[in-house]
Amino acid sequence: MKMAKNYKFWFCTGSQDLYGDACLAKVAEHSKIIVENLNKSGVLPYEVVWKPTLITNELIRRTFNEANGDEECAGVITWMHTFSPAKSWIIGLQEYRKPLCHLHTQFNEELPYDTIDMDFMNENQSAHGDREYGHIVSRMGIERKVIVGHWTFPAVQEKLAEWMRTAIGVIESSHIRVCRFGDNMNNVAVTEGDKVEAQIKFGWEIDHYCVNDVVEYVDAVSKGDTDALVEEYYSKYKIIDEGRNLDEFKKHVAVQAQQEIGIEKFLVDNNYHAIVTHFGMLGGLKQLPGLSIQRLMEKGYGFGAEGDWKVAAMVRMMKLMTAGTKDAKGTSMMEDYTYNLVPGKEGILQSHMLEVCPSVADGEIGIKVCPLSMGNREDPARLVFTSKTGPAVATSLIDLGNRFRLLINAVDCKKVERPMPKLPVGTAFWTPQPDLATGAEAWILAGGAHHTAFSYDLTVDQMVDWASAMGIESVVIDKDTTIRNFKNELRWNAASYK
Ligand code: MN
Repeated sequence: MKMAKNYKFWFCTGSQDLYGDACLAKVAEHSKIIVENLNKSGVLPYEVVWKPTLITNELIRRTFNEANGDEECAGVITWMHTFSPAKSWIIGLQEYRKPLCHLHTQFNEELPYDTIDMDFMNENQSAHGDREYGHIVSRMGIERKVIVGHWTFPAVQEKLAEWMRTAIGVIESSHIRVCRFGDNMNNVAVTEGDKVEAQIKFGWEIDHYCVNDVVEYVDAVSKGDTDALVEEYYSKYKIIDEGRNLDEFKKHVAVQAQQEIGIEKFLVDNNYHAIVTHFGMLGGLKQLPGLSIQRLMEKGYGFGAEGDWKVAAMVRMMKLMTAGTKDAKGTSMMEDYTYNLVPGKEGILQSHMLEVCPSVADGEIGIKVCPLSMGNREDPARLVFTSKTGPAVATSLIDLGNRFRLLINAVDCKKVERPMPKLPVGTAFWTPQPDLATGAEAWILAGGAHHTAFSYDLTVDQMVDWASAMGIESVVIDKDTTIRNFKNELRWNAASYK
C-alpha cells in the first residue's frame, strides 16, 4: 500500500539587511545548527531542510512559491531570529498554500549574564521579531501552529513532530480517493453527507461503483494465489474452528483471501486509498468482506461500513498521519456498540459486524467463521482479538447541513473484566473522558456518530489542528469538559461557523 511521499519540511529564518553581513552570517549559522540538531534528534518523523535567510519581500515571496511547487515539501517552519518587518511577508504568506508552523524559539537558552550587551540583544531578538511576524499572520487570518520554547527541549521537538504529522494529514487529504461499493445504508442519517462539499473542504474524491465491478476482480484471482494467502493466514493467526468441519472452515477463509487479493487489485488499478462496503448490497460476493477488509485496513487503506465514506476517508487520513510511528499501537474504524454501566467500571464496548483493523490488536489474533445475523450470504471468516490499553482519540466527522463538525473525544482504553468467548469479532473497550456519563452526553449533544475513526497514535491537539487547517469546526470532549460549558461552546460555534 502506498503511504505518504518522502516529505520534507522547510526551515525559513527571517531577518533583514539592516544588521549588516556579520550579523546575518551569525543568523545563518545559528539556523543551520538548529536544523542540523533537529534532524539529529531522532524525534522528528520527517527531515527539516535549511533555507537561506529571508530578508527581502522578493525572496520571501519566491521561497513560499517554491514551497508550493515542491511536491516533497509538506510545510514551512518559520522563525524570526532578529526583526523582520512583517509587511515584507504579506505577499509571500498570501500566496502560500501549505501548512505553516511558527517556531518561537531563540538560539541561546539562557541570558548570557556576564557578556550581554546591545550587540547581542540586536542579534538575538526573537522575542521581538516573532511578535511582529505573529501579528501579520494573525491579521491576515492565516491558520498556523505556534510552538514556543528552546529548540533543544524534548517537549518542543515532540510538538514539532506532532505538527509534522498533522501537516501530512493536511497535505495528503486532497489526494484521498474513496471507492464506494453501494450507497449509504437506507435511511441512516449520520453516515450521509455532502460529497461535493467534502471535496471542496478536504479534497476527497468519493466515487461510486457497482459491487459487481469488484466481483470480477475477485473471481479472477487464481486458486494458487488464494491458497498461498490462506497458508499465510494459517501460519499467522490461530484457527478457532469451534467444532466446524475443518475443510469447510478453510473454504470459508479462502473466500476472504480471494477477496483480499481481488479487492486490493481493484483499488490499486483504479488508484483508490479507501473503500466503503454495504452489507445489504453484496452482488456476486459470497461473503460480506470481513477478514479481507481487516487486512486491507492493516495495510493502510481507509474503510467505512454501510456506505460511510466520511469514516473511510478519515481512517485513511489518520493512517497517513501515523505512518511510520515508532511502536505504533494502531488506527481503525470503530463503532460504539454496547455499554458496561456498572459504577466504577463504565465503558463502551467497541466493535463492528466484522471490520475492526488488527493494527489495534493486543496479543493473539484468531480466525473464526460464524454466521452473520444481517445480510444474506454465507458465514464470513473474520479476525478476532481484543485491543490495546492506554489513551487514544475517537473522532467523528459529521455533516450539519451547513458545515462539517469534527468531534474529538479523548478516551482511555482498557481491558474488559472477563473474556467474552462467544463474541466473534475484534473489540476494544474504552471509557470516554471525562467519564462515561459526561462524555456520552456531550457526544450526543454535539451530534456525533456511532462510527468513529480511532487511533492510539494521535493526540487531541493534532486532530484539532488538522480541523483548523481544513477550515472546519472541531469540538473536543476530554478531561476538561463540563456539559454547561460544552453546550455554550456549541452555541458559540453555531454563530461563528456559518
Ligand atoms: Mn456500522
